Amino acid sequence: GLLAPNALFTPKRLNSRGFDLTDHDSLTKINEARNAAQFGNAYPITVGPATGKAVDVKDPNTGQVIGTILEADAATCAAALDAAKPWDAPVAERARILRQAADDLEENYGMIFAVLSREAGKIQPDAVGELREAVDFMRYYADQAEALPPSQPLGLMVAISPWNFPLAIFAGQICAALAAGNGVLAKPAEQTSIVATRTVELLHAAGVPVSALQLLTGTGNTVGAALTRDPRINGVVFTGSTQTAQRIRRSMADFMQPNAPLIAETGGLNAMIVDSTALPQQATRDIVASAFQSAGQRCSALRCLYVQEDIAPMLTAMITGAMDELTIGNSWNLATDVGPVIDTTAQKAIADYIAQARAEGREVHSLALPESGGTFIAPTLISVDSIQDMDREVFGPVLHIATYKAHQIDQVIDDINAMGYGLTFGLHTRIDGRVQTVCERIKAGNVYVNRNQIGAIVESQPFGGEGLSGTGPKAGGPLYLTRMVTGVAVTPSP
Ligand code: GLU
Repeated sequence: GLLAPNALFTPKRLNSRGFDLTDHDSLTKINEARNAAQFGNAYPITVGPATGKAVDVKDPNTGQVIGTILEADAATCAAALDAAKPWDAPVAERARILRQAADDLEENYGMIFAVLSREAGKIQPDAVGELREAVDFMRYYADQAEALPPSQPLGLMVAISPWNFPLAIFAGQICAALAAGNGVLAKPAEQTSIVATRTVELLHAAGVPVSALQLLTGTGNTVGAALTRDPRINGVVFTGSTQTAQRIRRSMADFMQPNAPLIAETGGLNAMIVDSTALPQQATRDIVASAFQSAGQRCSALRCLYVQEDIAPMLTAMITGAMDELTIGNSWNLATDVGPVIDTTAQKAIADYIAQARAEGREVHSLALPESGGTFIAPTLISVDSIQDMDREVFGPVLHIATYKAHQIDQVIDDINAMGYGLTFGLHTRIDGRVQTVCERIKAGNVYVNRNQIGAIVESQPFGGEGLSGTGPKAGGPLYLTRMVTGVAVTPSP
């Protein structure tokens, strides 16, 4: 079964320890490094010259312009595709260079924390977690590449990454493909092009050839479209919306070899069930973290909470009470729990959704927002009858709450599964048999019991969903690299 004791294991390698934000010396060191950091502008990094349009980058905390991005044009994409080559160094050399780049990235924490805060609006604990995850991916995939069975790289891969983990997912996708010996054309989310540019510079400085890793900062319409309709591409790794993944798949079907894989991590309508045996304080803490940490901008975030009716009044009061204690503010302020959402487009979409829920007469609990020029959204709780009332993934600090009667639990699981997504799922209960049956029936890639449901750890919690949430293989897990190679069997003459 899922929870047999042998599912617990001792990892072979240790993950990065990160930084202790409660330690005065460590905090002083971080602040000094952040304040001294210059993070510069974003631009394509290609074998040949790059041309394109200059666009301002705005700090979501303030609306202030913090840099410029050069958006690659069609000619730059075409030249990058012409120059792209697989990384033909021996695997030991590739692994050594990726480990070196991981060390370099970790040493550049001041610059990384500064840009994650100012470009992506990441609060400090999230920035620390993201840097840890990025270097863990790099070291883990270096190890995995050395352990692959006889195989060859696919050739050239396109990596299209999201703004919500602009370092960890970006570096994870690229370094996995590189570790396996592929050449990579990387297209980061426009919103977070500066952190992507700095990361690729570090990888090149550590020894990754430019022909094996080119960066195309720019838009999906230009760069994404050019890269995903080129017959020389042998595989695409993508994290973002389900609709975009479907568009990429159609384009790949039309233009690429039929065996080119699409590895996609997409959206979710993640649920949690809390029954009347749950420990209310613990459940409250885990609900608030799962729904509102990172301003709800995680694919893994809790979107729809089901609470057993008997404890619903008490638990709802505890959740709204805990929400009222959250501090909304600038990402660099250590007291901040909830920073800005990524940009004005996201802010407007989420605010409109909340306004519509109010207009429909739903019960809504929302915090007051501070006066500011940033793209803030107050953590919000919306009452619904069931998950079926949700018509889309709202990518922000918005939690829906529904109640169920004890005998309806099977129906609740069916309703959650019927939405077609399957990323994360949380369960709070003290009934062992229920853990077993719910975990067996729920369709979700990552199931969390009596804890929060965000922040998957490389290797311990391989991350990725099923159904509309993703194709697998899971990031940070043992199957990931196997999708980026093809097996070979060479038989000598007898
Ligand atoms: N791996 C992240 C987590 O477990 C979520 C990744 C995503 O948002 O795409 O919270």
